[in-house]
Amino acid sequence: SSEAVADIGLIGLAVMGQNLILNMNDHGFKVCAFNRTVAKVDHFLANEAKGTEIVGAHSVEELCRKLKRPRKVMLLVKAGSAVDAFIEQLLPHLEKGDIIIDGGNSHFPDSIRRTKELEAKGLLFVGCGVSGGEEGARYGPSLMPGGSEAAWPHLKPIFQAIAAKADGQPCCDWVGETGAGHYVKMVHNGIEYGDMQMICEAYQLLRDGLGLSHAQIGDIFDAWNKEELNSFLIEITRDIMRFNDTDGKPLVEKIRDTAGQKGTGKWTAISSLDMGVPVTLIGEAVYARCLSSIKDERTRASKVLAGPVGKKFEGNHKQFVTYLGQALYAAKIISYAQGFMLLREAAKEFNWHLNYGGIALMWKGGCIIRSAFLGDIKNAYVSNPNIESLMFDPFFQKALANAQDGWRYVASQSVLLGIPAPAITTALSFYDGYRTEHLPANLLQAQRDYFGAHTYELLDQPGKYIHTNWTGRG
Ligand code: NAP
Repeated sequence: SSEAVADIGLIGLAVMGQNLILNMNDHGFKVCAFNRTVAKVDHFLANEAKGTEIVGAHSVEELCRKLKRPRKVMLLVKAGSAVDAFIEQLLPHLEKGDIIIDGGNSHFPDSIRRTKELEAKGLLFVGCGVSGGEEGARYGPSLMPGGSEAAWPHLKPIFQAIAAKADGQPCCDWVGETGAGHYVKMVHNGIEYGDMQMICEAYQLLRDGLGLSHAQIGDIFDAWNKEELNSFLIEITRDIMRFNDTDGKPLVEKIRDTAGQKGTGKWTAISSLDMGVPVTLIGEAVYARCLSSIKDERTRASKVLAGPVGKKFEGNHKQFVTYLGQALYAAKIISYAQGFMLLREAAKEFNWHLNYGGIALMWKGGCIIRSAFLGDIKNAYVSNPNIESLMFDPFFQKALANAQDGWRYVASQSVLLGIPAPAITTALSFYDGYRTEHLPANLLQAQRDYFGAHTYELLDQPGKYIHTNWTGRG
């Protein structure tokens, strides 16, 4: 009808929704805005959206009337029941082939379910991970869409136009079936937890191990940001180190050391356990936040539990900083290798066809983990899409070999000094386990067979299960 003027409808006028609408408008798309609290629609049109092509609706019915076919409705509302509630409200006003996109931080099983439910009704559903925070939403987010693939040709022009660009390419491509988009977003957030934790460990080693000032640490991060560690998180850490409060003291040292979390890192760790993939670094990063949050208990423990008293770092500071950079880089390779191992297993489990190089490119710009390093990961998957793990890629194999001496030095110093570095050290243990042909699981199998008759295989007879009467008792 003549009323159907808008290219896309967007529901949810909090910060993410507003910014995505303005971004779409900048790129020449006509957006119709709606929100549960309808007064926010008029407020938005009269303020942030003033002078733009953006239109509004005061009901779901009016929103759907104003959309060109196939209708595209994107939700940027609180994850969970709000998404299902809006889907229910939209259903009576949609027709076969119309598309619902959920851009919130939904848990992937919900997106699997919603894709199936809507496809059964002849509609298309896309669960789209959005990363980059408010700034990304406004000027170029990383977008990770998955679900009903038939929707992609209709969304591609809009999504790739508004997405961040890395090396001239959009940080947005089709991820895969059903919940694949939200799964990849979840793993992105898990990797973000890991990157942040490693950086925090480096900060503590420099602050408490070497006794450096925040300004000195800021200079170290500045130097790292010019090399292979170059990334958004290293860059903002440098800025945080250099940010002084009104009294001239670094603001960061006044902040209470209890970390919050919204759950996406935890979801990644849970999924890794479900899949049986050792994503140890992200797991440690989640636990480190949990440990930080019991501050009162830690404070009591700090008064009574012994540490290596009197042990001060006695080595060469400059050398340590070089080694620490190597440790960060090596641990980061391990974390991403683990993340991609998890993606590969999930793809098998859920029957998704994931494009790993494309995922690396989607993360290269726009999002919180954006870095130069993701270009190297993309190259690894371009040269061998079926590579078992990133550690087998010649570039990363060599990088790990070059970094391992520094990595081992830093890990051992953290242990000797009593400064926790769970992410850096777990990554090293994983690396050593991964490259070990004979692990002590032979003993573990013997123990299991001893007490539980769980049987074992012999090295030279795999597939044949044997039980031994270890005690000789009947
Ligand atoms: P938010 O605070 O997560 O959600 C607020 C929006 O949800 C409002 O439009 C609100 O409507 C609506 N809403 C809440 N409960 C509802 C319910 N029961 N029924 C219907 N609508 C309901 O907003 P946000 O920070 O902009 O985030 C939107 C989504 O993007 C979330 O899923 C978030 O996790 C995700 N995300 C956020 C960021 C970020 O940096 N903030 C980054 C990536 C992804 P009313 O105005 O009527 O209350």
